[in-house]
Amino acid sequence: MRDAVAAYLALGANLGDAQAAVREAMDAIHALPATRVVRRSSLYRTAPMDSSGPDYINAVVQVDTALTAPDLLRELQALELRAGRLRPYRNAPRTLDLDILLFGEARIFSDALTIPHPRMVSRAFVLVPLREIAPQLVDASLLRSVAGQDCQPVAR
Ligand code: ATP
Ligand code: CA
Ligand code: CA
Repeated sequence: MRDAVAAYLALGANLGDAQAAVREAMDAIHALPATRVVRRSSLYRTAPMDSSGPDYINAVVQVDTALTAPDLLRELQALELRAGRLRPYRNAPRTLDLDILLFGEARIFSDALTIPHPRMVSRAFVLVPLREIAPQLVDASLLRSVAGQDCQPVAR
């Protein structure tokens, strides 16, 4: 692939068969145009933080992609819709949530896209799986700052 960028994506789900939704999403991301998943974290279980409903299943993947960041976001949103995602209100329970955490070295501040994801550094359900696949991106002090949040591995 030419001009591929390494990007990190957060996956989350807490409705229906959330583990299956996250696993299927990993496969669907691998099948996106000009994109492949090169690392997958374990699946983790987290009680809803600002959200509600059943526990969340979360994971992080590293992709190599030749898409632009806005094109990647559009593709991820199409996958969310395909999984039945509705947005009845902010932080509502969801069948699938796909966020772009990092996109190479990019810094993006547009209405539709903020990269790095502004809330990633305060979320154990992002930092713990990210550290599993990219320890160089999450130092120990950052991890300690979210140590009070419950985030348990459930499956590979
Ligand atoms: P949070 O962003 O706090 O994790 P959320 O994932 O529940 O909340 P959504 O309803 O899924 O929020 O997304 C709202 C909007 O966020 C999307 O329409 C998208 O345009 C925007 N957005 C901005 N930055 C990003 C990013 N880095 N990754 C994904 N979406 C983003
Ligand atoms: Ca999110
Ligand atoms: Ca989102």
